[in-house]
Amino acid sequence: MKKFYCFIIMLFFGMFVFVGCGSNNIIVDASENANLYKITANLDYENKMLSATENLEYTNRSELTLTELKFHLHPNAFSESADSTKAVSATQMEKAYNNGFSEGNIKIVSTYVNNTESAFEITGEENSILQVKIPELNKNQTVDIKINFVLTIPNVNHRFGYGNNTLNLGNWYPIVCVLESEGFFTQPYNSSGDPFYSEISNYLVDITYDENLKIAHTGELKKSTTSNGKNKVEISALAVRDFALVFSEKFEVATAQVGDTLVQYFYYNDDNYEFNLQTAVDSLNTFSELIGEYPYSVLNIVKCNFLHGGMEYPMLVYISDVIEVQQEYTNVIIHEIAHQWWYGVVGNNQLAYGWLDEGLAEYSTAIFYKINPQYDVTYNDVVGNALSAYLLFCDVYREVYETLDTSMNRNVLNFNTDTEYVYLSYVKGLLMFDAVSELIGDKKMEKCLQQYYDKFSMKFATPNGLIKSFEKSSGKDLQSYITSWLDGTVVLEQLAG
Ligand SMILES: [Zn+2]
Repeated sequence: MKKFYCFIIMLFFGMFVFVGCGSNNIIVDASENANLYKITANLDYENKMLSATENLEYTNRSELTLTELKFHLHPNAFSESADSTKAVSATQMEKAYNNGFSEGNIKIVSTYVNNTESAFEITGEENSILQVKIPELNKNQTVDIKINFVLTIPNVNHRFGYGNNTLNLGNWYPIVCVLESEGFFTQPYNSSGDPFYSEISNYLVDITYDENLKIAHTGELKKSTTSNGKNKVEISALAVRDFALVFSEKFEVATAQVGDTLVQYFYYNDDNYEFNLQTAVDSLNTFSELIGEYPYSVLNIVKCNFLHGGMEYPMLVYISDVIEVQQEYTNVIIHEIAHQWWYGVVGNNQLAYGWLDEGLAEYSTAIFYKINPQYDVTYNDVVGNALSAYLLFCDVYREVYETLDTSMNRNVLNFNTDTEYVYLSYVKGLLMFDAVSELIGDKKMEKCLQQYYDKFSMKFATPNGLIKSFEKSSGKDLQSYITSWLDGTVVLEQLAG
């Protein structure tokens, strides 16, 4: 997600040819070892409801013997009864709900285990978890779970909700919790950060909707049919962490082919659509060359009703239609596309270590400007602005709260405010990666990014994993230096000189 912008950019229309995208073997390898979601859904657009059947083929890849599966029920964060788990903070209510509060939720109708109907429980804070009992499941055994559910889609400019222009289905279906050594990680939604953590899976999704709607989605379109005023599409997405869709009556689509990847910009009310498409193409080319190839066949950039700047999903990013300044819009496109590498291919627990993907997305954005001078923003501008903003934040925070904790490695729940989370994960994250680059040199930093991407591709990275990987790539002992940034002991004022 992207919440702040501070850069000046000039318009540029350019062509940049890049050959050789599409590392499909990464996808094939990862998809062979992944769970499969098959979802059949019917969108009732008039009533803003969706009914669906989800089949999950889940294989236990751990040493634990499982007797239950747990799923996140993220739509319940939009319910009136949600409190600590709610999706919208008190300060954002007006921006989110243009027409007053609107209920959103997910109702589980029935569950089946290996084709036999079975009891289920809704547990966790404020109905955030679906728990399904299963027969003992040992390592490498597979269980089939079927879940019938109904969504009430709220009138809210958010990941899951509808506004005046689009209906957004992000984090909309029961998604299985990540199994860690101690059990399932069940921390629920909250209004700060991108509170998601999910593993690489395969998706086959069929969805039926009114034929006047256009659709943007994760994955490849396999088949599309129309009858009785309804469209039905069949979509396949292999080796992705999540699956999102956006609907609109207003969408126009601008497309470009970049190597093996089709880039599609879904927009409305946008005179600069060619430039915005080009920014997406430049981002895809730049990050593919800098970090490693984008492995998917599609990348969708989707303008939509959204209260923050943007949001990343696999093969699809939201760009908010409330952004009025072109330079901000450009910056959000670059940042969200960087997340395809940091969050998408290289996963991480975004609740526990938000800086890991946000810091790298911000740093990659700064490097983008270095590689693409036609955007008229310098790398030094980006880093200089970030340092000034960060030091100002520290001063103000110290004054208001009389204390200042600059540690970065905190769970999203342990930040006192959203602003604190943003400055320590995004801004300080960028400054930290810039400082590491200063220390080891640009060439070695590139090697660090590339080898970290390779090592954790389709897996989860951790802070320690990043440090070890960077140490190996650079040949430098970085543990104590990076740790001093993470635990807040590095003194940034000195670096400013
Ligand atoms: Zn972000």
